[in-house]
Order: sequence, then structure tokens, then C-alpha cells
Amino acid sequence: MLERVEDFNFNMDKVVEEFESLTKDAERVQKETLKKILEDNASAEYLQNLGLNGRTDPESFKACVPLVTHKDLEPYIYRIVDGDAASILTGKPITTISLSSGTTQGKPKYVPWNDELFETTMQIYQTSFAFRNREYPIKNGKALNFIYSSKQFKTKGGLLAGTATTNVFRNVSYKCGMKALQSQCCSPDEVIFGPDFYQSLYCHLLCGLIFRDEVQLVSSTFAHSIVHSFRTFEQVWEDLCTDIREGVLNSKVTVPSIRTAMSKILKPNPELANLVHKKCVKLSNNWYGLIQEIFPNAKYVYGIMTGSMEPYLKKLRHYAGELPLLTADYGSSEGWIGANVNPKVAPEMATYAVLPQIGYFEFIPLNEIELCIDSQPLGLTEVKVGEEYEIVITNPAGLYRYRLGDVVKVMGFHNSTPELKFIRRSSLLLTINIDKNTEKDLQLAVEAATRLLAEQKLEIVDFTSHVELSKEPGHYVIFFEMSGEGSEELLSECCNCLDKSFVDAGYVSSRKVKMIEALELRVVRSGTFQKILDHYLGLGAAVSQYKTPRCVGPTNTKVLQILSQNVVHNFLSTAFN
Ligand code: AMP
Repeated sequence: MLERVEDFNFNMDKVVEEFESLTKDAERVQKETLKKILEDNASAEYLQNLGLNGRTDPESFKACVPLVTHKDLEPYIYRIVDGDAASILTGKPITTISLSSGTTQGKPKYVPWNDELFETTMQIYQTSFAFRNREYPIKNGKALNFIYSSKQFKTKGGLLAGTATTNVFRNVSYKCGMKALQSQCCSPDEVIFGPDFYQSLYCHLLCGLIFRDEVQLVSSTFAHSIVHSFRTFEQVWEDLCTDIREGVLNSKVTVPSIRTAMSKILKPNPELANLVHKKCVKLSNNWYGLIQEIFPNAKYVYGIMTGSMEPYLKKLRHYAGELPLLTADYGSSEGWIGANVNPKVAPEMATYAVLPQIGYFEFIPLNEIELCIDSQPLGLTEVKVGEEYEIVITNPAGLYRYRLGDVVKVMGFHNSTPELKFIRRSSLLLTINIDKNTEKDLQLAVEAATRLLAEQKLEIVDFTSHVELSKEPGHYVIFFEMSGEGSEELLSECCNCLDKSFVDAGYVSSRKVKMIEALELRVVRSGTFQKILDHYLGLGAAVSQYKTPRCVGPTNTKVLQILSQNVVHNFLSTAFN
């Protein structure tokens, strides 16, 4: 177990060197990684039943072990969660569970967690940091890091459960690891682990201002959280200035442990308060360059910015001003996959180089899934540039040939390991008839509408969708929360634009023959998506892992209710009349 900063004091050139050497020999490293996983877990009931009989080579593994989804593993996972201490999925019994955010699929999933996954987390952080630091060096740095721990609870069987990010933040080695990566959070632990998200967010912002000269990067796990934080800053900056001027924390922060921790760092500083106040008055016209202006020594803004985070990039760029946006790594509660080793590439073009030593990876060609061809997935080094695949993970925490549900595209190779572009979740989002629209299709349609709105200086704060089947034939409903009020004319144009932007042949032909009715745009009141976030937080989600659900299914009645109670305008497309 790594417990001291010294354990993490790594030589960055060595990290790069090691990465180069591992990726040059990715096929061998994959074989070794698989061998180690299978040897360490040979006594696990799951593997014992599959007849591997000690074999650890990829061919035997693929022949004996089936491809599975989370659903297939649930009987095993629930036994673990309920306290069965046998070696079920792993040799060493699992004692901690991660709760995936669940916002992409509707409900949180239980996923086994162990120390090996923590170590791979640190490996991926170190690798991307070593590459990042060559381009944007930071020293003795502090990070304004908007991180939050979700509540940890005991399952029925007495296992500790929390989101994967919470399991990382709570690991005793995490702080040392982040210090070594010059990314130590400027907020005290009581703020990170506080029970109330809004109070923690307020204090993160306050700590950021107090340590403004030392802050060298601004980050969060996902870009959404950074945007949300600075939208909040726009609302509370005057309170923050008052607190700094008087050295007294706002009375809205009521959690005693947070108040005590903050009292140690908050001292009256009228000079700083006046400076920040002056800057905010100047910025408050449109808040362009807020991050750069308030944190003069920040070198970059860092967080996951690809996939479902892309819609927030425009706003993030606005807040960042000239500061570069660097997308963080690619992974999931089920395990890490790839690091961003080309930090200078804009998030829209970013790829993730797979670390061949952190798991065993397979790739199912997407066209074969679509054509329902039952073929063997390809190995890490067998994938082809330009092709799309669904990713399959084997990790050191008891997941074997696990279909993660993400689609990636191979953009190139770093030595012999592929560089992946995240494309989308594999599940279909919108489908009524023969139409097939994914998260990416929705995103593209919304982007087209965004361009229309920009003409009237309007922005989409957030969006989601729903398939309305209560009346035959069904139709798509898109919900927009916007930064201001648009004219009726503009919004109906947006509605038509959305309808026309779903170019999938199944959709277009179904619309033409009225097998799918006119698309509906529903504009919701300001603050609606905040209520949806609050709803998920209430269910135990962590903001650090939050992703706005891009499609709300019929069983998600609470979110549907929040949306429908807040609709202020609705429009029906006339695009196919
Ligand atoms: P969770 O279910 O909360 O563990 O979230 C994991 C999911 O977040 C992944 O399966 C991806 O769909 C998404 N994700 C994680 N990292 C990235 C990334 N760098 N780019 C795009 N999507 C990501």
C-alpha cells in the first residue's frame, strides 16, 4: 500500500519512458496482465466454474469465459453485496463496492472495487500528468479542484459502498498521490467530504479565492461540474467577497465541521476582497475569461471534456478565456482505460492511449454488432484505425470480459497501443419505429439548434430528451433550458431544425409517412436541471461523477415530473408538413 508522498515521488521522465516501453510491447504486456489477473483470482468461484483449469493464455480465456453485461453478473455481485465472504469473483474477497453514477443508464450499478483498482487509478493519473507537465509545467501547485465525496454507506452485508470517485478520494494514499502530482486540492478535507453539496461548492470557491495566487490549475472530474461551479460563482461572488473582507464564513454554511475547518484559513483580508470585487464588477458583463482573471497563475483547466461533456465546452471556454482546456483520462467505475498523452490537442479531437498494463481489453467491431454477427472480439493490438468498437474489459477486481457499453473509435496508435476517441454510450437513446438515434445523434441535433440560438446570443444551459408514446404514433420530445428567453419565431425554427437534424434514414422515412409524429421542443424554466441534479444527489449520486441523463425513460417518473412541471413553452415541428 502506498502511504507516503515519497512513495509517489516519481521521476516524470521515467514514467514517460515506462509508458513508451510498455506501449511498444502492448501485446506481450496484455498477455502478462491477463495472466496475472487470472492467477491472482484462480480460486474465484466464477473462474473455477468456467473450466480454465489454470490456463491463462488469451485463447483459452476467450474460449472458456463468456462475454457478459452487468446484468449477467448481478447474481454474483448481489451475493457479495449481501455479505457472502467467499471468493466469488476474486481470489481475495471484495470488501468495497463502487456505485456507478447511473445517470447514463437510469439507475446506479454496484461494481466491485479493490486496492488494485486504486493503484491503476494512480498509474493513469501519473502517466497523463507526466505528459501534461512536459507541456504545461507546474510546481508547488495547488488545484482548485471541485471534488465531492458522496456518502459512503454499509450494504446489507456490511460492505462499504460509495461512488468510485469517493472510493478514490477516501483512500489513505489519495492525498499523497495528488500532492506528488502538484494537484493538491486547496480546500480542506471537511469541504470535500461535507454532507451538503452546495455548502461544499461555496467553500471550494472561497478557498480558491483565498489561495488564488497559488492555484495552478482548475479542475473537476467532469467538465459539467466546472461549468456548474462558475455559474454558481456568478450568483455568489458578492457573498464570497464579504466573507473574505470580514473573515467570517457566510451563515448559509451550517455544517459545523466545515465551519471549523474554514475558520482556520479564512481571515479578514479587505485588500483581497476589494481586488476580487473590482475584477468581478469588470467581468460581470459576460464573465468572459473569469478563470484566467481570478486565478492569474492557473496554467490550464482540467477535467473530462469528451463524450457527453462536449456540450459544456463552449461555456467552459468562455469562462477559461485564453487558458487551455485539457481533457482528463478515460475510465469508468469498472476500471480505467486510457490516458490523455497529447494534452495540447483540443478536447474535440482528443484521444486516449490505452495503458496495456491496467486491464485486459477486447474490442467488438460495431458493424458486427449492428448486423448481429456473432464474432470474436479483437485484441488490443488487432484493432484497425478508423473503425468503431464496443469496449470489453477484464479488470483486477472481478470483471471478466465485461461489456462496458461504450463505443470508441480507433484514431491511431501510440507505439502499438491504440489511441481511442470516445464516441458514445452504445445503447440507443431514441427509437420508436425503425429509427435509431444515439446520444451522439442527439448531441449533433442540439449543436445545430445551438447555432441558431447563438444568433440571438442565447445559450442552452442543459438538455435532455424523451420518447413520448402516450399517443399513437409516438414522437421525440427535446427539453431545453436556456440562458434567456428566445422569441417564438426563433424557438419554432429551433424545433424544426432539431427535427431535420436527425438524419438517420429510419427516422426521416418514419417522419415522412407519419409513423413518427412531429418532434416537440419543450422549453423549461431556469433552474430545472439544477432540480434534476438535486434529485440524483438525493439518491446518493456524487456531483463528481454526475452526467445529465440525455434521455429520460418512461420509468424515470420523478425526473419526468420535474421536467413537465417546469415547461414554459412548447413547440411542434412543421419540418415534415
Ligand atoms: P460511471 O458510470 O459513473 O463510472 O461513468 C463511466 C462512464 O463515463 C464511462 O463508461 C463513459 O461512458 C463516461 N466517461 C468516462 N470517461 C470519459 C471520457 N474521458 N470521455 C468520455 N466519456 C467518459
